[in-house]
Amino acid sequence: YRGISENVLYKSHNAFNRKASVPVGTVQNVSRLYEEHKQISSTLNAKRHARSTVGDTIRELDGEAKKAVLEEAKSLKTEITALEEQLSEIDDELYSLAFAIPNDTHPDVPLGDVPKTILRLNSDKEIPASTSRDHVLVGRALNLLDLEAAAVITGSSWYYLLNEGAMLEVALANYALSKALARGFKPVTTPDVVKANVAMRCGFQPRDEGDPPVQQMYHLQSATPEQPELVLSGTAEIPLGGLFANRIYKEDELPFKVVGIGRAFRSEAGARGADTRGLYRVHQFTKLELFVVCTQETSGEMMEEMTKLQLDIFGGLGLPLRLLDMPTEELGASAYRKYDIEAWMPGRGDFGEISSTSNCTDYQARRLHIRYRHSAASDGHVHVAFAHTLNGTAAAIPRLIVALLENGAQFDESGKVVGIKLPSELKAFWPGSS
Ligand code: AMP
Repeated sequence: YRGISENVLYKSHNAFNRKASVPVGTVQNVSRLYEEHKQISSTLNAKRHARSTVGDTIRELDGEAKKAVLEEAKSLKTEITALEEQLSEIDDELYSLAFAIPNDTHPDVPLGDVPKTILRLNSDKEIPASTSRDHVLVGRALNLLDLEAAAVITGSSWYYLLNEGAMLEVALANYALSKALARGFKPVTTPDVVKANVAMRCGFQPRDEGDPPVQQMYHLQSATPEQPELVLSGTAEIPLGGLFANRIYKEDELPFKVVGIGRAFRSEAGARGADTRGLYRVHQFTKLELFVVCTQETSGEMMEEMTKLQLDIFGGLGLPLRLLDMPTEELGASAYRKYDIEAWMPGRGDFGEISSTSNCTDYQARRLHIRYRHSAASDGHVHVAFAHTLNGTAAAIPRLIVALLENGAQFDESGKVVGIKLPSELKAFWPGSS
């Protein structure tokens, strides 16, 4: 390892621990390109400065002296253009390589692929697994969903919610929204179409990933010289990150806490044949997403605050839950640490993920240029620093419907489904209730 910096060693080791597909040598190449970038930038600045000084002297000269200085200015201009081109090429290469490198990892994250259970909630309400509680059977019996018509109209893993099924979506969204508002999150409705480049800056690869490769996002339009590549957003986290991009905030403006109300589109759902039944893994769903921009010192406590809110939202629905500290191999590119919440789904006979919260530290902020004026304790000076960003699910509607149908299904003596017992907390949010 002689000659390789500690940082490069850490990043390579970290990518290995996270099973991130980072081509061999990427980290070293990024480090080398970054140094080259710095060097060329500084030469370029010096040349620009020299050219403006030369420009100032031209006016005061004439004759041979003026001719010589004009020659010098011309040659500086040629050098500057060449350096600018070189810098732009390095910039493109640096960005495309750097996108492959995942965020650093919190030292407490479990190593490998097994999550650590931090907490269990409502365990006393865990009812035995039973296939008769399957949400598709229950939903069909009560005319709450139609998968067959959606399969004809669009394709598999699409759905219609009908009657109280549609009302349940609205009630759940309003319930989660009101809980988030009560904790100081400001509401935002988001565009569901985003530039592919913005998705990448948030840590999402719009194109193929894994083996075999799978399309992650729906493409709406390819890039041309006149128009950017556009995709359907997989989560409101992307437009919410974009909302704060390219700005420098005052430290006392932070944290920004918002709750986005948007649709999530996943083209990969069901692509590998997993969880294709019913509403569990679908191509489109309504999602309320928490998003936070905060200082570097506070992202750890913000994550705990978001988790408390989520436990309040999902625990308030009476669902048996477990909170998991996700292991290195389960972290998305942007996550420094990730907590998932799972709910007991007796029809599936297992816990299923209903929420995910990531502390992305400065990963997205670096790529989206979200900065703030930070008064560093070390030297008392104000520095422009990258903010930290976090995102977490306040409600991913179909998964909540799966959990509520499977836990709440009511049967008569013959075993026929006769209704759903819903949590009383939803009553106030039911459409039409006053
Ligand atoms: P993610 O943005 O992938 O971390 O997902 C956030 C939450 O959305 C998950 O915890 C699930 O509750 C839900 N979710 C993710 N993918 C799907 C899908 N394809 N269909 C339905 N719900 C999903």
